[in-house]
Amino acid sequence: DPGGNVRVVVRVRAFLPRELDRNAECLIEMDPVTQQTTLMVPNDTDPANSRTRSRKVIEEKKFTFDNSFWSHDTRDEHYATQEHVYDSLGEEFLDHNFEGYHTCIFAYGQTGSGKSYTMMGTPDQPGLIPRTCEDLFERIAAAQEETPNISYNVRVSYFEVYNEHVRDLLVPVVPNTQPYYLKIRESPVEGPYVKDLTEVPVRNINEILRYMRTGDSNRTVASTKMNDTSSRSHAVFTIMLKQIHHDLESDETTERSSRIRLVDLAGSERAKSTEATGQRLREGSNINKSLTTLGRVIAALADPQKKSKARGNLKTSGSSNSVVPYRDSILTWLLKDSLGGNSKTAMIACIAPSDYEETLSTLRYADQAKRIRTRAVVNQDSIS
Ligand code: ADP
Ligand code: MG
Repeated sequence: DPGGNVRVVVRVRAFLPRELDRNAECLIEMDPVTQQTTLMVPNDTDPANSRTRSRKVIEEKKFTFDNSFWSHDTRDEHYATQEHVYDSLGEEFLDHNFEGYHTCIFAYGQTGSGKSYTMMGTPDQPGLIPRTCEDLFERIAAAQEETPNISYNVRVSYFEVYNEHVRDLLVPVVPNTQPYYLKIRESPVEGPYVKDLTEVPVRNINEILRYMRTGDSNRTVASTKMNDTSSRSHAVFTIMLKQIHHDLESDETTERSSRIRLVDLAGSERAKSTEATGQRLREGSNINKSLTTLGRVIAALADPQKKSKARGNLKTSGSSNSVVPYRDSILTWLLKDSLGGNSKTAMIACIAPSDYEETLSTLRYADQAKRIRTRAVVNQDSIS
């Protein structure tokens, strides 16, 4: 099956101390059977939602996703742990990588909604990225015992897109110097890529986790200096898996290459360029071009017909991709394949439990992403 829709899941986190302090109410309900997520109307007592209430009529909203992960209350029998999220999504995507497909999992949501917790996690509660790395090397070790005529090659890279610049996270940050930015190139075969990006070979779980942590701390180092970069930057962790299979009978060698992309996006509140209230206008420089463009790309991919009609072109078949504005931002250009091409892709919509407006915007975004179809193919070559 070459076509497939983007898999969309949603995850709600627990209250943070500041929410408990203000007696916040949980506005989210999830049905474990139907996977339906309900966003309820806030009552009057929570000051954080009072502005929303006074401004317009708001109502309860229901959405259905491929999974609704309830991570709000650890005492609940349906509480979705980090392990649960990996088992429901990460594991299957790694199966696809071994089959030779490219995959991409990206976390979307406002700052503080649990994107980094879901993707990276903590030392005690590792997230999707370290779990994928661990499972990857466990599978390689097991396969090498069973089928010695397959060899494996794993490489890793880690970069961030900040303010429309690409920064290599595996290159140390040198204090008091201008950060070094990389350029994007596009090859007919590989598509868009980051030129001169560090791509290191890794032989075991410890090596890959070390690079993961190095990259993560390079992101953090910059964030304390540049006033919370991590909420404004998009971090892209990529694992390249190559499986070289030598058939002893036919003496033929085939190579399967797959790319595993794991993306922690900037806080989605940065995308609100059109809802320019006074406050937003003053924060004008915070508006994130890559994030607003991602919204436009998702909208165009979700409704290709609509876009073409708007341009007065009713013959939509096949050519509709030409109107998707991938190249309008660095992030969407680099993720072109993952969003609308050769990749199996999932979006994790992360939501806070008590923020009506931001959560509604995230859930609508996620609902639109469900309609996107990608065309993944097995990346296999005969090399002899
Ligand atoms: P983001 O990356 O979206 O800005 P974080 O992942 O940093 O948000 O999460 C914000 C806070 O909430 C952190 O303190 C994090 O540890 C906590 N958190 C997020 N999701 C969960 C969860 N599912 N369970 C427990 N704590 C969580
Ligand atoms: Mg984060």
